[in-house]
Formats: sequence, C-alpha cells, structure tokens
Amino acid sequence: MDYPGNLFVVAAPSGTGKSSLVKALLEVDARMELSVSHTTRAPRGQEVHGREYFFVSDEEFDRMIAADAFVEWAEVHGRRYGTSRKAIEDKIAAGADIVLEIDYQGALQIRRQFANAVLIFILPPSWDELRRRLQRRGEDSAEVIELRLRNAAREMAHVDQFDYVIINEVFERALFDLKTITHSQRLRVAPQRRQRADVFSALRIAPPPAPA
Ligand code: 5GP
Repeated sequence: MDYPGNLFVVAAPSGTGKSSLVKALLEVDARMELSVSHTTRAPRGQEVHGREYFFVSDEEFDRMIAADAFVEWAEVHGRRYGTSRKAIEDKIAAGADIVLEIDYQGALQIRRQFANAVLIFILPPSWDELRRRLQRRGEDSAEVIELRLRNAAREMAHVDQFDYVIINEVFERALFDLKTITHSQRLRVAPQRRQRADVFSALRIAPPPAPA
C-alpha cells in the first residue's frame, strides 16, 4: 500500500520505556500522530477510551476481525490488540506521519503491508535493569513480572527483523536516537519528493524511474 506520509512502528518488551519515549516524541514533533489501537483488556488507572485505546469487548473484537477492520492484530499477554484501518487511513490520507506503538507480531504484519514502514525496536540495557523497572512500576505481582521477563526474551529474539534498535539506558539519549531515526527517514529521497513536491517541480527534476 502506498501512502504520502511516513509510518513508524515502535516495538519493545514491557518495561523498556517505550510509551514514555513515544509520548515525549509526540510532544516535540508536531507532524507525528499516534495510532490509537483497539484492545480487549480493561482500562488501567487514568486511561481514557479513545485516547490510550478503544476498549472493546471480545465480541466486538471478533466482529471487527470478521469485517476485516484491522490492518494488524495480535494476542499479547492473553489479551487482543489491533490497529484498525480507520485509525491510520484518515491520518495517512492527510499526509501525516504516524507512529504505531505495538508488539513485534503486529510490527511484522505492518511490514508485510507497508513496505516502507520503519521498524524500531527498543531494548533495555540489561536484564537486571528491566526487572528493576518492572518492579518500580508497582503494577504487577512477582509472578506477572517473571512472566513479562520470559515474554521479553521471546520478543527480543525478533530484533533482527527490525530496521533500527535503540537501547534505552539514558532516557534523553534514547529520545535523541528516536528523533534522529524519524528525521533521517524524512530526509530520504522518496519522502522528500512527496513532502517537497513543490521544490522538485520548481527545479524541474524528472519523476523517479519506474522500478525494474
Ligand atoms: P499494554 O496492555 O501494556 O498497554 O500493552 C501490551 C502490549 O500490547 C504492548 O507491547 C503494546 O505495544 C502492545 N500493543 C498495543 N496496541 C497494539 C496493537 O494495536 N497491535 C499489536 N499487535 N500490539 C499492540
């Protein structure tokens, strides 16, 4: 599928600081929009329907799968999560850049449909630090933390299928890395041609050759 904007997919095991990094990116990057996913899990804490997620029942999720409403969906920690076509198509049509904060299975499904999607994986600096961060969050019992750590090992095994990896050791450094990736992608020839078609046309630069 072709689209005028750039599609960034950020995946990471829980506890690596993925949400905080994406949130900080959205605060400083006016061109970037977040795709809001659907999930069958219940809202936590201050989460608001339509802001963090669209919280739906299992029946509604089934109905959406049957209606081919998702560009990708996956089961994560026993709950289902999906990116609806609607969540991204309007933004794509408007030429916005979109960031998807999803798990690695969803990221790989996106890659199959959007060849130009940029896949970014975030790693913690060590197992000790990941365990400490999960404990500090205070959201999970000791068993759930061990489950998340086991899941993290399985997720990290897929890192080679991604384009970029950020090691979130120092938050500001990791945010700089994320900004650098998004900025470099925007400077690639094809996105520049789309974004600055006026300049290419004023300079009378011919369209790119058709792929062989
Ligand atoms: P949480 O329940 O902690 O918000 O999210 C659990 C996991 O589900 C995270 O790794 C998150 O990135 C992932 N996730 C959230 N939305 C989606 C989605 O739309 N699709 C997929 N495949 N994963 C998602």
